[in-house]
Amino acid sequence: LTDRLQKAMEKLRRKPKVTEADLRETMREIRLALLEADVNFKVVKDFVKTVREKAAGAEVLKGLNPAQQIVKIVNDELTKLMGEEAVPLNKAPHIPTVIMMVGLQGAGKTTTAGKLALRLKNENNARPMFIAADVYRPAAITQLQQVADQIDVPVFEKGIDVDPVEIVREGMEVAKQNHNDYVIIDTAGRLQIDEQLMDELANIKELVKPNEILLVIDSMTGQNAVNTAQGFDNKLDITGVVLTKLDGDTRGGAAMSIRAVTGKPIKFVGEGEKMEDLDVFHPDRMASRILGMGDMMTLIEKAQKNFDEEQAQETMDKMRENTFDYNDFLAQMDQVTKMGPLENIIKMMPGMANNPALKNLNLDPKQFAHIKAIVLSMTPEERENPDVMNPSRRRRLAAGSGRPIVEVNRMIKQFNQMRKMMKQVTNGNFNGMQNMFGG
Ligand code: GDP
Ligand code: MG
Repeated sequence: LTDRLQKAMEKLRRKPKVTEADLRETMREIRLALLEADVNFKVVKDFVKTVREKAAGAEVLKGLNPAQQIVKIVNDELTKLMGEEAVPLNKAPHIPTVIMMVGLQGAGKTTTAGKLALRLKNENNARPMFIAADVYRPAAITQLQQVADQIDVPVFEKGIDVDPVEIVREGMEVAKQNHNDYVIIDTAGRLQIDEQLMDELANIKELVKPNEILLVIDSMTGQNAVNTAQGFDNKLDITGVVLTKLDGDTRGGAAMSIRAVTGKPIKFVGEGEKMEDLDVFHPDRMASRILGMGDMMTLIEKAQKNFDEEQAQETMDKMRENTFDYNDFLAQMDQVTKMGPLENIIKMMPGMANNPALKNLNLDPKQFAHIKAIVLSMTPEERENPDVMNPSRRRRLAAGSGRPIVEVNRMIKQFNQMRKMMKQVTNGNFNGMQNMFGG
């Protein structure tokens, strides 16, 4: 979303004290940022009002760390605006669960149908079937067929000369015979909402009473996305939204308006053209991303997959007690390398996502190996007591690791900075981390 919003939050976060004027300025920035991002004006108005009230109510002006309080309020309200919790797909009491994909032409219905089917197969061991009910473009059926082939899912189709309602009727019979547990209906779209299309979709709905009517919306269409959502919802009473092309969306306005305007949850987001590029929509994660606080939850999840929990807890304790030493450093390096490319990890940290200092960040894994070599050249005593590093010890480390003395000095300096930073972070001061990366 918005550089502007992130900058406003960044500016605020740096402030030790927040004055009445700062608060007014921040509210103004938030308002502009949201409007620029194509968030519906009424949504913006309500949002800013709520944040201002909460900020006043929380007595942020007198608070201990007012800037962070406001950031938190904005974050919480954004989360609320987008629906608070992830909403799962509806499920029918008896198979098959019927999912009807609707939306404008090019929004991503067919692609998303494929992504969903793959997800259901992988996570629920499901046996989905597609029904090809887009009979207006001859290529539509071929495209669905291609998608289906990639993920090995059957397609029911009757060409383009049969009434879509009839196709769906027959398709449902076939699905029941074959005991498919999910039926995904790919419908036609238009460039704009029109009566004829809506009537046809309403007739299909009437016939199959889908458990889920998913409106697929291109997130890059900005303010139009909201109008589209409203139009479809009025006619079809949709059950959820899939926002596609979020990989190309820099403003995120659609994500913020749709829930507020329609009251319907965003259930999934599309983040690429591949079949794997579909994610559950988490309002809290989206809010953090919008505010530039990084995608902490994703980072934490990623870390949890690879981290030994006990060891992580131990590290946290050590950071707090300020007894973090070179042994911990080594252990941590090993864990971090398991998590994947370092630059990706750093960018997920709070305040890092949009840090200009990281624009061209490219961390060399070789450098990592060098640091490790230096630490491994230390005696056990040195590893446990980072403060004993005098010049003669440093020379010995250089010789032992085969690295130049300047590199040894740099590593030790960085390690000491890191310890300092950790102390600050565990004391709730995130600026330390920023300084370390030159922010
Ligand atoms: P439909 O007309 O609604 O069925 O839309 P399609 O499924 O045919 O998608 C239209 C185009 O958008 C295709 O080129 C898709 O590859 C592309 N597309 C769909 N979803 C996404 C997404 O999440 N990210 C990106 N980058 N492209 C997408
Ligand atoms: Mg299509």
